[in-house]
Amino acid sequence: MEKRNQIPTLYLILPCYNEEAVLEKTSLVVKDKMTRLMKEGKITNVSKALFVNDGSRDATLRMLYDIAQKDSFYGVLSFAGNYGHQSAILAGMLEARLHADAAVTIDADLQQDIEALDRFLECYMDGCDVVYGVRNDRDTDGFFKKLTATTYYKLMHLLGSGALTNSADYRLMSKKALNALAEYGESSLFLRGLIPTMGFESDIVYFDVKAREAGESKYTFKKMLNLAMDGITSSSIRPIHMIGGLGFITVLAALVMIIFSIVDWARGNAVQGYTTSLIVTLILGGVILVSLSVIGEYVGKTYMEAKHRPRYIIDNVILRDVSYEDNTIEE
Ligand code: UDP
Ligand code: MG
Repeated sequence: MEKRNQIPTLYLILPCYNEEAVLEKTSLVVKDKMTRLMKEGKITNVSKALFVNDGSRDATLRMLYDIAQKDSFYGVLSFAGNYGHQSAILAGMLEARLHADAAVTIDADLQQDIEALDRFLECYMDGCDVVYGVRNDRDTDGFFKKLTATTYYKLMHLLGSGALTNSADYRLMSKKALNALAEYGESSLFLRGLIPTMGFESDIVYFDVKAREAGESKYTFKKMLNLAMDGITSSSIRPIHMIGGLGFITVLAALVMIIFSIVDWARGNAVQGYTTSLIVTLILGGVILVSLSVIGEYVGKTYMEAKHRPRYIIDNVILRDVSYEDNTIEE
């Protein structure tokens, strides 16, 4: 890896969905931290915090406009609707690549330790293009979240996704990595699984997780389930291969059963075995339905991708004191 010798202009991306309860505190903490980094000569003084409003229904957007109006350190990118956390951080990063040398994404509730930024920057200066944040432990999570998260990562690896266990969307990407990310056109996004497949020089930073200070989790069970499904189906087709394996085993079992029943018939004790055939029929029916639904999931995904719909629609961007000069803006 080649060391970098110029400090970066850093954009901190904060996705916000109904975050009125934490915004004030977050904006202060972020400004304080970034100002310190500027004074310590770790980032340039045109670095910014970029909030991405993901179609909030509360006072979030008004508060963001307020904050950005008073201080050009803050930028706001606002979506026309709620397109989800993954789209929000993607939009933030794609905007950041036009103005910054590196972007870090972090949750607006600052549950992820912002003090870890120093270590992200060290890795960047060492020459990394991607730095993954990985959480130290899950002490602050409830029992249910801990259990589901652990099981999920195990399942994901089994099903062929490359996401790092317990990696969060707290991550640094260099301009080079961001430009590469911009080339990916898929609308079903699972960044945690996608970014490791890009193959840049990378490193890991471990960070602590705090409990959410105000407001409640915006990840409803449904959103979490959707993300979980995307995580598996958008980065791997191993489930389909597994169905193939299942089919093969079923055929073998059926062959054995056929041989047995022919032998049975030859010996003259047919009819018996009603229970067996009932069980076999039920199991087979179940397996076929599950397999169909897995394949259906992929067909559905293909259908959605084939539409080539925009991943999000930007309603407004406020970024003061930046020039779009030597950058081409996406159409
Ligand atoms: N978020 C978003 N769009 C959504 C849901 C969540 O932009 O549809 C943002 C949210 O504002 C927060 C981050 O994603 O900054 C993580 O959400 P949250 O803290 O509610 O999730 P948790 O920490 O409970 O997993
Ligand atoms: Mg949170």
